[in-house]
Amino acid sequence: MILLVDDKPENLFSLKKLLELNNFSVDTAESGEKALKKILKCNYVLVILDVQMPGMDGFEVAETISGLSRAKDMSIIFLSAVNTDTNFIKRGYASGAVDYVTKPVDPDILLLKVKTFYRLYEQTQELTKTQEALREEIKFREVAEQRKDEFMSIASHELKTPLTSMKAYLQLLQRSVEEADFATKDHFLQRAILQLNKLDTLIADLLDISKIESGKLQLNKKKFDFNVMLNNAIDVIMQMHPEVKIVKECHVQGQVYGDDARLEQVLINYFTNAIKYSPCSKEIYVNVDLSPERHLTVRVKDKGIGIPKESLQNVFKKFYRVDESAVRFQGLGMGLYICSEIISRHGGFVGVESEPNKGSVFYFSVPILEKLQEVPQ
Ligand code: ADP
Repeated sequence: MILLVDDKPENLFSLKKLLELNNFSVDTAESGEKALKKILKCNYVLVILDVQMPGMDGFEVAETISGLSRAKDMSIIFLSAVNTDTNFIKRGYASGAVDYVTKPVDPDILLLKVKTFYRLYEQTQELTKTQEALREEIKFREVAEQRKDEFMSIASHELKTPLTSMKAYLQLLQRSVEEADFATKDHFLQRAILQLNKLDTLIADLLDISKIESGKLQLNKKKFDFNVMLNNAIDVIMQMHPEVKIVKECHVQGQVYGDDARLEQVLINYFTNAIKYSPCSKEIYVNVDLSPERHLTVRVKDKGIGIPKESLQNVFKKFYRVDESAVRFQGLGMGLYICSEIISRHGGFVGVESEPNKGSVFYFSVPILEKLQEVPQ
């Protein structure tokens, strides 16, 4: 919008008409004081100021405007009867003026200047936006870089821990073999394998994250028996944690269409977490249900440390770890993020219900393509 400032109503009228006929929106003020009040309230692209006005003259208005931050992109055209006095021109520029049009106003010249200022204003706005976007981008990249460094240091630590343990168990195993102590040999071998599995899972998770990021996580969907997959997952867990009891409540049986290996990965992740975050309990419950909307829902329940309410919405986010558990338990915060990606790629959803010190229920729900058989209870 343009603000026209002139003490003569007839000048205001004719200039307003001229500009409006050329599709500019125009506001008017009959004195320097009124103009200032308007500029304080409203953003103008351009102010066309009559230099000679009673009270506050055009230069005083321009000088005051130049001190306002909200008017920093605003241009000023002085309308002046005087045209050749160089002192006059210097004074104009010193007070923040941008251009002059001499009276009587040549409409073509004025329009040309107004259009130039509008273009300048638009370019400045565009530039400011680009600058802001660049600043945001720099900030974002700095934070990302910092996160990456943090992640690299945690990841290296997490990878080193099982590797160091494995090395120690293999050395003990070597000694047992040398001393023909066959009783302890198996024990050390088992411990070394457990550490190897941990390492294997960590590396697989890291690779999965990079596949998700690059959109290359492939699903190999086919029909499979859900119960067979569930039993496989339970077997894997029982082998890794023979001390844990998994109580299975499964009321459905039949074929599901999906990637069985990836869905098994989700189940194993839920079970592993349930065990890891339940240091005082050795029982895990798994419940499978079929909803009338043909969604298969699997719930894994533990009686572990639970999760504070404010963290619940974050646990499926990449690299998120609940502060309290992060200091007590090892991890990288990748597992649940991968689970949620796998389930969403099956058209399903994940969720969690939890109470600190009581335990958690992690669930996922996937649509099934054909009717499963309900098992009579
Ligand atoms: P990680 O276990 O490696 O940290 P996850 O992505 O599997 O990564 O889990 C993210 C966070 O969610 C964990 O750090 C933990 O704080 C919380 N969490 C996950 N499962 C449980 C659970 N069963 N009980 C309590 N907290 C859990």
